Amino acid sequence: MRKHLFEIIVALMLFAITTVFMLCNFFFFNNRADITVAIVIFALLSLGGIVFHTAKHMVSKELEAKERLKRLADSINAAVIVWDADFRYKYINFEFTRMYGYNEEDINSGDDILHKVLPEDAFMPSLQAIINNRDEEFRVTAKNGNSVATVWNTSIMEIIEKRDSKLYLLMSIGYDLSELLSTKQELEESEKKYALSMELSEIGILLLTPGEDTFYISEQLRNMVSFPEGPIGIKEIGDSVHHKSLPEFEKITAYVKGFRRTDIGKIQSSKIQCKSLDGSYKWFEFRYRLITSPLTDKFGLGGSVIDITRDIEKDIRIEKMAYIDETTGLFNRNRFMQIGRDAFEYTRDSNVDYWIIIADIDNFHIVNDTTGYENGNKLLQRMASIVTSQVVNGGYVARIGGDNFALLVQDNGNDNLPVSIINTIQTELREIKSETFKAQTITCSAGYCKMSDSAIDFSKVLDQAEFSLSLSDGSRESVIRYDNKVHERVLRDAETEKEIAEAIANNEFVLFYQPKISLTDGTLMGMEALIRWIKPDGRLVPPVQFIPIAEKSMNITQISNFVLNEACRQNKEWQDKGLQPLTVSVNLTSVDFYQTDVISNIKTVLETTGLDPEYLDIELTESLALKDIDNAVSQMEEIRNLGVKLSMDDFGTGYSSLSYIQVLPISLLKLDRSFIMYLEKDEMSKEIVSAVIRIAKCKRIETIAEGVENVEQAAILRGSGCDYVQGYLFGKPMPADKFEEFIRTHNAALAEQMVTDSAEHTAAV
Ligand code: C2E
Ligand code: MG
Ligand code: MG
Repeated sequence: MRKHLFEIIVALMLFAITTVFMLCNFFFFNNRADITVAIVIFALLSLGGIVFHTAKHMVSKELEAKERLKRLADSINAAVIVWDADFRYKYINFEFTRMYGYNEEDINSGDDILHKVLPEDAFMPSLQAIINNRDEEFRVTAKNGNSVATVWNTSIMEIIEKRDSKLYLLMSIGYDLSELLSTKQELEESEKKYALSMELSEIGILLLTPGEDTFYISEQLRNMVSFPEGPIGIKEIGDSVHHKSLPEFEKITAYVKGFRRTDIGKIQSSKIQCKSLDGSYKWFEFRYRLITSPLTDKFGLGGSVIDITRDIEKDIRIEKMAYIDETTGLFNRNRFMQIGRDAFEYTRDSNVDYWIIIADIDNFHIVNDTTGYENGNKLLQRMASIVTSQVVNGGYVARIGGDNFALLVQDNGNDNLPVSIINTIQTELREIKSETFKAQTITCSAGYCKMSDSAIDFSKVLDQAEFSLSLSDGSRESVIRYDNKVHERVLRDAETEKEIAEAIANNEFVLFYQPKISLTDGTLMGMEALIRWIKPDGRLVPPVQFIPIAEKSMNITQISNFVLNEACRQNKEWQDKGLQPLTVSVNLTSVDFYQTDVISNIKTVLETTGLDPEYLDIELTESLALKDIDNAVSQMEEIRNLGVKLSMDDFGTGYSSLSYIQVLPISLLKLDRSFIMYLEKDEMSKEIVSAVIRIAKCKRIETIAEGVENVEQAAILRGSGCDYVQGYLFGKPMPADKFEEFIRTHNAALAEQMVTDSAEHTAAV
């Protein structure tokens, strides 16, 4: 308006001048009407021009403003209605048409757009809200009838001065909420699902947002753990932790406090006992990991909590079942193995050492058999308490099987510690004053070893102690320390034992024969059958390397049966071939003698081979006879009654006294090689030998010397009255074919001559 002020003033001045001129003309120049009229017309025209110009200018301004608004509205990516203060429609934008389907024509049809789009009941409040410029959310009915959720925001866009009044143009912008609402709905639904799944899966959640001091605690977690009201920091969480779980909890707090970027993403896990809502302490598994904020450099923590009380209790029960011996309440073998393994590791890294002792109640089965299973259990319980009382200062006791108790005792530098512990246990066992066990003295044996003696592992240590215990069984000692060499020998023997069984099946045994020569005339009087093991590779194994082992197992009976059979068969074969009849000697062991029906075996063999009994000689050792002299005598007499001869082998090596010769029904005494070896040099041997020969002669027992290697020995023996000799001097043990040859070629005269010459030579010296 101010812009047009000058034009209006000029127009008004022109109009005033024209009017003054006209009046002057009228009064001073005789009222010249024509000029006056012309001037008036001129003045009116100028005034009209000015007014028209001004009006035209004002209209174009308004159009320009409207155009600007239109452009602005079209550039907005939302529905726009421009209207005046009376809510008369001015303009709708393109997006409005797209969202609701109404176009300019619909609007210009004269319908009230507001009534069209707004629901009737929301009409006035909506208008009010729009005037108040509030964000107002309501649904717009689109042209196709759909209801479109829209949020409206209105602002005054332009004020156009219009003569004395002002024109307010309002611009309402409507945002389509449909998508947002569906996203919100989806979010709500997923939140519900999440909450439900958390509730059903009984997982509690806690979250420490980076940069904050207090945790978000999920509802589920609040139902699980007794937390105080209000915000919860790490201290409040700690207040609900059981004191036994505090060390574990400390680990978590240390982890949280010592945030490290490298820890991000790694899931940690802890089992902690916390106070639950009902006041009892329950076990919870807490799985957590560090989280970081993308905006700040701060760290937070996210974690889940599950109640694992039932699992833990189950574990405890299972552990009890798995690690405790029900009868005695002691640890069982499994647990002892764990303890032992830990101790073994410890000994490696420290100077501490341990003894492993395994004690076993002697003849426990007899207690069980005679007093009953229940009483057997009572004895085990008694043993458990006695053994436990012996283990102090961090030692352990376990029942590792049957009546075997294991002790793990710290070494105090005294190597006698295990023995003294077992001695105390033995004393206490003997002193058990129970009616039930009074019939028998309860004793125990033990094997032990030192942890550091085995460099492999704990199971090896235990094996060693158990091995030593097994040795105590057949030994006079009741407490035996592990000895590597003994163990190796036993293992080798076990291996040999297995091989012997295979060798029997594979016929790897053969017999060699060694001649026995008469010292009177040099004739061949018989031969000793000596077994040899020829391995598949041709290696020859001497009997000393396998007979004692076979004796411990029942393999010896099979070997002896073979020897007996083969020796008799071969001897008969030679006789059948027309060779001079000889006596074959067969060695039998105490196992053959006492644990098999040796009489019927011999009988059967003689029957099957057809050998006359007088050509069979059985060699027995004196130790065999001494084991059970009465039994030995009666068995030997039975053998003699069969017509078979009996020899006493290795005489002089045992603890026998010569008086035994008088009771044993033997026909031949074999002087052990140990007396013959130094016979020509050792006066004492000479005297013993001649004394034994003398006594034997008195008993009408013939004598034979073993291991005669030289003519001097043979001459001395002949001089002492010995009847026969066996030794390398006359022939080594040889295979059957060689021996057959020996029989055929033996020159008795030559042999006799050899001894005679030597005897003369010796006498001359
Ligand atoms: P043994 O019954 O006293 O047999 C005599 C052993 O002395 C034989 O050893 C023989 O070779 C050896 N010998 C004989 N003369 C001499 C000699 O002049 N010098 C030396 N240094 N040794 C001589 P072999 O054959 O090694 O047998 C050893 C032992 O094995 C036998 O002692 C016997 O106890 C046992 N044995 C051998 N064969 C059998 C068998 O078939 N059954 C059983 N149960 N034991 C057997
Ligand atoms: Mg012999
Ligand atoms: Mg012998």
